Amino acid sequence: MSKYVYFFGGGKADGNRDMKDVLGGKGANLAEMTNIGLPVPPGFTISAGVCRYYYQHGKKYPPELAKQVGRAVSRLEKEMGKRFGDARDPLLVSVRSGAAVSMPGMMDTVLNLGLNEKTLPGLIKKTGNPRFGWDTYRRFIQMFGNVVMGVPHHAFEHQLEEIKRLVGKRNGVKGAARLEQEALNRAVPDTALEEEDLKKLVQRYKKVYRKHTGEDFPSDPLDQLWKGIGAVFGSWNIPRAVKYRQIHSIKGLLGTAVNVQAMVFGNMGDDSGTGVAFTRDPSTGKNRFYGEYLLNAQGEDVVAGIRTPRPISELRRDMPGVYRELISIRKKLERHYRDTQDLEFTIEKGRLFILQTRTGKRTAQAAVKIAADMVKEKLISRRTAVLRVEPGQIDQILHPMLDPAEEKKQKPIATGLPASPGAAVGKVVFSAEEAEDWHAKGEKVVLVRVETSPEDIGGMNVARGILTARGGMTSHAAVVARGMGKPCVAGAGGIAINYRKKEFKSGEVTVKEGDWISLEGSRGYVYRGQIPTVEPKLSGPFGTLMKWADSFRTIGVRANADTPRDAAAAVKFGAEGIGLCRTEHMFFEGERIWSFRKMILVAEKVKDLRARIEDSTGDEKKKLEKMLSAPLKQYRRALAELLPLQRKDFEGIFRALRGRPCTIRLLDPPLHEFLPQDSKGQKEMARRMGVTGEEIRATIAALHEFNPMLGHRGCRLGLTYPEVSEMQVRAIIEAALNVRRKAGISVRPEIMIPLVGHVRELEIARNDAEEVIKNIFKKKKVKKNEIPYLIGTMIEIPRAAVTADEIARVAQFFSFGTNDLTQMGCGFSRDDAGSFLGDYVKLGVYENDPFQVLDQAGIGKLVRMAIDLGRRVKPDLKIGICGEHGGEPASVEFCYRVGMDYVSCSPFRVPIARLAAAQAAVREKQK
Ligand code: ADP
Ligand code: MG
Ligand code: MG
Repeated sequence: MSKYVYFFGGGKADGNRDMKDVLGGKGANLAEMTNIGLPVPPGFTISAGVCRYYYQHGKKYPPELAKQVGRAVSRLEKEMGKRFGDARDPLLVSVRSGAAVSMPGMMDTVLNLGLNEKTLPGLIKKTGNPRFGWDTYRRFIQMFGNVVMGVPHHAFEHQLEEIKRLVGKRNGVKGAARLEQEALNRAVPDTALEEEDLKKLVQRYKKVYRKHTGEDFPSDPLDQLWKGIGAVFGSWNIPRAVKYRQIHSIKGLLGTAVNVQAMVFGNMGDDSGTGVAFTRDPSTGKNRFYGEYLLNAQGEDVVAGIRTPRPISELRRDMPGVYRELISIRKKLERHYRDTQDLEFTIEKGRLFILQTRTGKRTAQAAVKIAADMVKEKLISRRTAVLRVEPGQIDQILHPMLDPAEEKKQKPIATGLPASPGAAVGKVVFSAEEAEDWHAKGEKVVLVRVETSPEDIGGMNVARGILTARGGMTSHAAVVARGMGKPCVAGAGGIAINYRKKEFKSGEVTVKEGDWISLEGSRGYVYRGQIPTVEPKLSGPFGTLMKWADSFRTIGVRANADTPRDAAAAVKFGAEGIGLCRTEHMFFEGERIWSFRKMILVAEKVKDLRARIEDSTGDEKKKLEKMLSAPLKQYRRALAELLPLQRKDFEGIFRALRGRPCTIRLLDPPLHEFLPQDSKGQKEMARRMGVTGEEIRATIAALHEFNPMLGHRGCRLGLTYPEVSEMQVRAIIEAALNVRRKAGISVRPEIMIPLVGHVRELEIARNDAEEVIKNIFKKKKVKKNEIPYLIGTMIEIPRAAVTADEIARVAQFFSFGTNDLTQMGCGFSRDDAGSFLGDYVKLGVYENDPFQVLDQAGIGKLVRMAIDLGRRVKPDLKIGICGEHGGEPASVEFCYRVGMDYVSCSPFRVPIARLAAAQAAVREKQK
């Protein structure tokens, strides 16, 4: 018989921390904490397999489940010395969800289950605390009604508000009848309600319940329990849970487990309370205990933002004994898990209970610092430290901060809690939907809310940053923002948001929808307007961790960079060279475009005449040759104008690289991309070139292509306009010589011929290039090895991949251009695939967008084949990748596994690639 129910309690559990797939994260850790002797209220976990079964069998449970649950309930009753539904001393439980991956706030929990008209008096009598009894009952009706039966939250909240107005009036709160909800909550907190108020509230809640469900509140505790269990399983597929899994790419889970656990009560008075804590600061990573708590409160009160929680350090004064115990548990948990933990605790009449622990979510900064610190503290090894930091996450640290000099000139219009670091600059919107709409229109937005809730996930995901008026460091907004790596300022109490008018006020300042603001998430400041941002600092713990990563890494990391500035940035981020330097960008800059256009204009003419000369004889031929001489001269002159400019660019790049290799791609895009598309530009071009507008339009028409992606581009240009390639090769080699001889910096140029599909293309291109180089070397008396250059090709056309053995005979290196290889291999146009790829991923045709994450099964197979064929001919063939995939962690791991020498990606992503490559190597060793 299958085991569906796992008990924990009495110092022993059926499960342990390694059983997350079965017990969910919460259940596995409740079991683990029980096993290591922490004070965990006993209970049992219904496995995630039941959730799977439930959905596969038309929402039915496995037949053995009822019996197993029944046995577990009896055992729990024995453990607690209380019975479920006992009118004298009832056992109450919580029903809690929990999947293998933590999904904060996504699945709902029901507390205080087991109360009814009969058991309530027993609870009151046993505790001698009627206020507590009624408070617990009203909480139960509300949670059960909302979570299990879907009664809208506000229907209950409305009643609570009414009662609070009455209490306010009784207590002499001014204007209690008209106060805004927020002010009302401040003037009349939940704790101000007395027994009689709560009794009244319960009666009203029951009415609300009846009105919305058409039935009476269920009194049978077992009935309540099964309804609760069903609700947790049901919540697995509610839209916000599905959306959360989508955003975080959580796939392949069985479902959620259900935890049923004996209640402990934080709402028994001021000697009780509830809180959450992190064993280290989740924002900065500092090794200090960090958390928040509320006295006389239960469950989610701390994160719900109804009352403002107090920093954990104050608990030292409130309850010194409990505080000491908590500190020792903090230490015990870190030693045991060897990682930062995020825990939830409750204090019942001075007694501490731990209700949850999990790996603490943290910012990238914190992840890096904690990993480095824990190595120093001998808690983990360097290898483990390197594995601890999510490569995709360090993007956060690499992102700009507000320019301190500019920031200093401004005064914040508001301050809040530094909930998630980094700078966010964007236009203000006041709802998640608007955030998504504006984002779709290409706007940068900052989402401003009183507080956020799980329904806001989509809007939070597209916002640059998040600002809330209410809530603490562990509020929904703060937790989610940190998880997403978004800057967030939370609980900025000084701002008053008016959703209706779409504005917020902070003192004298009014900020309206669409106005720019800047957030500083590391300190919690809000500024008006756009403050410029600056680059991050890469030293400290980050530098240390990256050094360790580099010591494990075996595959090289280069950057894609086209300018001296990018090259310098790449080096700063740790690139070991340039894997792709595109030369076409150089032609767009400033005045050069005109030289380039001049060149195109005559190049067309030259090409035309040459073709006609070839086809003619005798006088006709002579006449044509004479006609050619003028345009040819112009053609050469235009190229001669471009040569020094391009040479200078290369010199700058070579200098910045200080001896590192540089792969330079010869001109790749079709020529028409360089010509003006609008009539104004065409007129200006005619004026500058001294020709008619008609002539310009004719050239543009002649160059027009139906499918430019597959048109006259790449090496095809070099074969038909050899002078252009010649100029580029000359610029590269002369620049190399200049830098070598004038600055004494060695230069390793790698000339890359793009878009080769047939070995013959590469042969012609390489011969032409070698000819140019030979001449320069002869003229400049270049010694052997003075400029160690290579000539190779991109593998980006499927035909090249499958004939890679032939190509390898002529190529000195391969660089996989996986953008085009994906485009041509999958048959998706890069520019048009947006309209269906999203659906394709949803339908599960592709697991990810193949332009972002390399399609290993398809395109990856082409890559493997090409490497295999190439190395068969040339065992030491140098191989790299220069598509977008070179900075994507899963793809980097793939490149490592198939034996590439290096990956290349944008400068910003270089540290990500370094870390991903190190992790791939460490993981391989662990196997
Ligand atoms: P989530 O997954 O949303 O964090 P939990 O299942 O952890 O939901 O429940 C939320 C809170 O409810 C807990 O942090 C804790 O304060 C409270 N809670 C859950 N179970 C119990 C219990 N058995 N006794 C007391 N409080 C509980
Ligand atoms: Mg919660
Ligand atoms: Mg929890």
